[in-house]
Amino acid sequence: MKDYHFFQQQVIDYARKLATEGYLKGTGGNISVRVTGEDALAITPSNQDYFTITPDDVCVYRFDGTKIHGEMKPSIEMGFHSAVYQVRSDVGCVMHTHQDFASAVALINKPIPALFDEQVRFLGRRVDVIPYAPSGTGMLVKQVRKNVQNHHNAYILKNHGVLCLGPTPERAFHNVLLLEKAALSYLLALYTEEKVSKIPLLIREIAFAKLRSEQKKIEQQLAGVKE
Ligand code: 13P
Ligand code: ZN
Repeated sequence: MKDYHFFQQQVIDYARKLATEGYLKGTGGNISVRVTGEDALAITPSNQDYFTITPDDVCVYRFDGTKIHGEMKPSIEMGFHSAVYQVRSDVGCVMHTHQDFASAVALINKPIPALFDEQVRFLGRRVDVIPYAPSGTGMLVKQVRKNVQNHHNAYILKNHGVLCLGPTPERAFHNVLLLEKAALSYLLALYTEEKVSKIPLLIREIAFAKLRSEQKKIEQQLAGVKE
């Protein structure tokens, strides 16, 4: 059998990193990485303490939901993780967190506009709020599949939490931090009741073009791996 240890170790390392930094609450949140060269992902098991499980407990499943490896039940959100990999070939890691400030934005139904240039460079033109659907349902999978097609790397799940994407776990983690900073700044700015200023449109488009060009390069590299 193929050895998935490299991918399982990445999932454990970054689940622990997110938990240590306070981005997952209790057993809330989950992470996955794409198994390169296969239509499969390695994903955290459902409802587990990420400090007590071992890499071998990390589930490996095909995008169609068939099991490759794992005794424990995979995360209830495996459906939307798989959907992201299927429609976004530039994505190598998906992180779903319940982080504080972005979760507060999830309650006010306001997308975070282009506030900072590094925000747009890594997360996209704005951070959209994906309409509410209950956790672990096909309705949520459908919403996620539809919304991630705009090539952004961060989304807010209404009345739930966040979804961050990246080509690698390092970059997805960086995007989680950037989103939290943008969310906190936005909430504080709204609190002043002053007009919230955005970066100029031209700068926004230049920063987003950089993200898109990088994504296209990754898509080509991954297509090369599959050939
Ligand atoms: P899991 O423990 O099944 O991954 O669920 C946690 C969660 O955040 C659901 O949205
Ligand atoms: Zn959740």
